[in-house]
Amino acid sequence: MATLQPVRGTHDLLPEQCRRHRAVEERCRLVAERFGYAEVATPIFEFTEVFARTLGDTSDVVTKEMYTFEDRGGEGITLRPEGTAGVARAFISNGLQQSLPLKVFYRGPMFRYERPQKGRQRQFHQVGVELLGVEAPMADVEVIALGARFLDALGLKGRVTLEINTLGDQESREAYRTALVDYLRGHMDRLSEDSKARLERNPLRVLDSKDEADREIVQDAPVFTDYLNEHSRTFFDTVLKGLDQLGIEYVHNTRLVRGLDYYSHTAFEFTTTELGAQGTVLAGGRYDGLIKTMGGPPTPGIGWAAGVERLALLVEDVEPFARPIAIVPLGEQAEARALTLADDLRRAEFTVDMGYSGNMKKRMQRANKVYARAAVILGEDELAKGEALVRDLDSGEQTPVPLGGLEAALGRFR
Ligand code: ATP
Ligand code: MG
Repeated sequence: MATLQPVRGTHDLLPEQCRRHRAVEERCRLVAERFGYAEVATPIFEFTEVFARTLGDTSDVVTKEMYTFEDRGGEGITLRPEGTAGVARAFISNGLQQSLPLKVFYRGPMFRYERPQKGRQRQFHQVGVELLGVEAPMADVEVIALGARFLDALGLKGRVTLEINTLGDQESREAYRTALVDYLRGHMDRLSEDSKARLERNPLRVLDSKDEADREIVQDAPVFTDYLNEHSRTFFDTVLKGLDQLGIEYVHNTRLVRGLDYYSHTAFEFTTTELGAQGTVLAGGRYDGLIKTMGGPPTPGIGWAAGVERLALLVEDVEPFARPIAIVPLGEQAEARALTLADDLRRAEFTVDMGYSGNMKKRMQRANKVYARAAVILGEDELAKGEALVRDLDSGEQTPVPLGGLEAALGRFR
């Protein structure tokens, strides 16, 4: 029955995948906290304008990827496609101007109506950070360093490349835009339909096109760096110097632009060659115009978001889960006793698995299946003596233990 399939582009996270996701998220949270970024959570849906106004009405996300619907009250609602707009909205609606600089970390599901493929889902997860209220390039350095240290902590040092570029300030962007449009006009006949539309409204986006012919044309397009004014150039140089000082390696990719409209100055991505076509694992940039565009007080910002699914595919050292102690009661009386025994052990912070039925063989199979470290076997005879058998399931070694001494005897199996 088709309705029992998950919706296209969505996935269940079964225990193993949940552990990998958690490893990614938790490591991000730890590193972010070390940098002074506190966790926040904004709603997974917002009024549609929160995204439509900010992400730019030519961005792929707004033109074709948003999950938008009218709710029962007739409000236009959109499932969040990314995290920054929600954080910016929260900054404004909670009147947090007094708390600047504001440093936050977030995690959670995002929704985009994309063509599903490896590394590209319709519901996916991101972790991300935002730093609001700092105009100086040191903020860019800090935020990029946080990304780099997070990826290091996942064991990805040397397996990802930091690509960085600058989109300059508004004056530089306008100068570049004019030059780029002039150039692209000369290649109109070969540009993709999408890019022809972009040419009028947001030509920078053509640089990000995935179309083959577009890419070829873009090869010889004017380069942003040549159109930077002095302020923009100094800003970028200072960011790069900061990265040098921290020993964070980067490649200056003059073609790098970000997919959303609100960026200025620094744009960056960490990419890997290990995931095929969807190689960007973490991406971000500076968005000094965003909060003002939303109707808030002019407030600079910079941040990034990382795709948890893509990172989960890359991480190797996922923390082992706690192997449980299996309780194996045999007979009615033992079962009743097992209930309190399991409760006592859990309160003493043991992980305890209880199979609920079957003979000895069935229950031992269950213990193996949950990868139990040890079994506590409660037979009628043992119970009569006030004892249980503790079996080390790795070595097979088995010892009788008085019920009162179980916690101590099980300590080594934690
Ligand atoms: P792309 O060019 O791959 O579409 P993007 O510019 O749309 O990327 P961002 O909005 O910057 O991506 O999102 C940051 C990160 O979130 C991406 O680098 C990626 O790791 C992840 N991501 C984005 N969209 C998806 C998706 N549909 N499925 C899985 N991960 C995604
Ligand atoms: Mg995209």
